Amino acid sequence: MTKFDVVIVGAGAAGLFCAGVAGQRGLKVLIVDHAPKLAEKIRISGGGRCNFTNREVTPANFLSENPHYCRSALAGYTPQAFIALVDQHGIAWHEKHKGQLFCDHRSDDIIQMLIKECEIGGVTRWQPCAVSAIRKSSEGFEIDTDRGMVHSPQLVMATGGLAIPKIGATDFGYRVAKQFDHTVVATRPALVPLTFDAEAWKPWAQLAGIALEVAIQTETAYRTAGGKRKGPMAAQFTEDLLFTHRGLSGPAVLQISSHWQAGRPIQINLTPQLDLAQQLMAAKLGSKKQLSTTWSQALGASIPARLADTWLQQAKLALPHLRPESAVAELKDKDLEALGHSANAWQLIPSGTEGYAKAEVTAGGVDTRELSSQSMESLKVAGLYFIGEVVDVTGWLGGYNFHWAWASAMACAQSLRQAEQPS
Ligand SMILES: Cc1cc2nc3c(=O)[nH]c(=O)nc-3n(C[C@H](O)[C@H](O)[C@H](O)COP(=O)(O)OP(=O)(O)OC[C@H]3O[C@@H](n4cnc5c(N)ncnc54)[C@H](O)[C@@H]3O)c2cc1C
Repeated sequence: MTKFDVVIVGAGAAGLFCAGVAGQRGLKVLIVDHAPKLAEKIRISGGGRCNFTNREVTPANFLSENPHYCRSALAGYTPQAFIALVDQHGIAWHEKHKGQLFCDHRSDDIIQMLIKECEIGGVTRWQPCAVSAIRKSSEGFEIDTDRGMVHSPQLVMATGGLAIPKIGATDFGYRVAKQFDHTVVATRPALVPLTFDAEAWKPWAQLAGIALEVAIQTETAYRTAGGKRKGPMAAQFTEDLLFTHRGLSGPAVLQISSHWQAGRPIQINLTPQLDLAQQLMAAKLGSKKQLSTTWSQALGASIPARLADTWLQQAKLALPHLRPESAVAELKDKDLEALGHSANAWQLIPSGTEGYAKAEVTAGGVDTRELSSQSMESLKVAGLYFIGEVVDVTGWLGGYNFHWAWASAMACAQSLRQAEQPS
């Protein structure tokens, strides 16, 4: 039987980072992962360039039933600290919009950095190696693996969420949490494209590939770390939207999907900088032009022409007096206002999401009210820790999920205890 100071299950972002730091603190660390390839989620992240953190990370960038939980770990490990590590490893990076930091070359730079940090810490890694069962013993935990049973006084679950099962995601972390009497907040795909009823989506499906900046909102069930909740609150983002064959995607929709509650509408403003009703009313004065011309002039370059045309065709179905060939001066104010308003406040009810196969993360997870916010240790079972995405802390799109992996891993690694040396 092999003994370690700590066994970490899951060699993804959080597990590898925790292993390196704990190893460099002098602990005897074993990290185990069942996937044939190391840290595939890091590899495919950020379009292959890994959006590894964000310049500005605050608790308000995370969703959780317990919004203040992440505060301590985030304060203990800042983006600047991670950037310093990336710089120390000579990794070239750049900033994209809204503080998002990406590798210049490829995500593998971050994986190699984590491997080196583990090597410096003398970490033992078993991979691929499945973990089939975990038991509590008088001295800690017994862990059954493909390479035999290991014993450790401390166990860190870093098994991530359920997104992209084909590269190794499992529910093992949630099962272990339940086995040790922990509550798991209901899980669901987040940062995920939204889908619509196929028949209702037909007119829009032909626009697949069109992208534009929009303001998007929906009612959220989450409280932010900021304050108390008074009635329903709206989550809002201004980002790019992308039409797809089955629905909507792009950063705007991924962000709002984390808040979207099944059966509820989302609202999209296709021209956040333009009050279209006002534009149409102004254009009507003394104009001899047709509605279609006035409409495209009111929109200017704000909306791609194909979307503008489809919009008018669809509006005609709801507002029969609005024929594109009608002279705009002859149209009723209320119809023109309704047309403008429809594009400034497009209400639509998604039928679902593209699911875990296309999601970037899992919302929900191990309930943080039963974990220490200082160390990520279970408040129910001494020596048991949960870090990274497996816990109920879900970041916005933009490098926040990796930052949570680093920050929670650091908080845990600094709290892990070395076995007492025999005197
Ligand atoms: C396509 C995509 C792009 C993304 N891009 C970004 C981005 O650019 N920026 C960002 O911040 N976030 C991004 N994310 C999210 C980010 O990848 C995750 O939030 C992050 O990897 C979570 O880290 P983790 O260590 O908790 O889990 P993971 O990195 O998922 O690691 C979990 C590990 O546990 C292993 N495991 C699971 N079950 C078992 C088991 N039973 N036994 C042994 N091992 C097991 C898995 O094989 C895996 O290696 C992206 C996600 C996806 C899917």
